[in-house]
Amino acid sequence: MSQALGESQMLASEPLSISETLDDWVMVDLHVSSHTLPSSSGSKMAVVKASHGYSFSVSKGDRFRIVDLHGEQVVDFMAFVRSGSSLTKEKLSMAYTRYHLSGVPAAVGEYLYTTLDTPIFRITADTVKVHDMTFMSCNPSFYKKLGYPSSHRSCSQNIAEAMAAWGLDEMDIRATDPLNLFQNTPNYTIKALGSSKAGDYVEMEALRDCVVAVSCCPYEGNGFNGGRVTDVGVVTGVRR
Ligand SMILES: [Zn+2]
Repeated sequence: MSQALGESQMLASEPLSISETLDDWVMVDLHVSSHTLPSSSGSKMAVVKASHGYSFSVSKGDRFRIVDLHGEQVVDFMAFVRSGSSLTKEKLSMAYTRYHLSGVPAAVGEYLYTTLDTPIFRITADTVKVHDMTFMSCNPSFYKKLGYPSSHRSCSQNIAEAMAAWGLDEMDIRATDPLNLFQNTPNYTIKALGSSKAGDYVEMEALRDCVVAVSCCPYEGNGFNGGRVTDVGVVTGVRR
């Protein structure tokens, strides 16, 4: 690991409130490794603390990357179409995306779709190519049934926290199917099938103005997430 990554992790370990904007977060020019981050100087990475969520606003034409910094870490991914500074009712839809892609995750050059059957993202790079479009986000009910304490964090709560400033609550999030990046669970298997390595990433181009929300999945049972939940990175300002 580079010195820069160590610095970012140190900063990211500081307490983070739930409604911070991108500018409030840990923003550092990072060069974790040459294959991980874009070489353009304008890109920034926010480190999303393990088991927490984050949201960021993008405009049509923007590119960003979701980076698995340490490997085998699932990232629940949602997006909500924005009109100016307000959300519309349109959002990223796994049902529409599955329909267009015949159930197979989008390849580079293919699209993700919204509830109004409109492309919202184009996949521009993917070093993993194994993701899940079927599972719901882990949530308080999921953990309660497994006997976890009520204090255990969940993806639905993480994204609800990250989207609270946009007026969404946890029930809105539960009604949204996530794209589970780096989650290798074909045909609803939920085995310990981590497929991503440290530094792997997915890059997308926004085709609409929207707010993207991610959750660093807190589920560590059965070896999921490699049995150890770790930080993930969000790189914005990626140039073509
Ligand atoms: Zn989760």
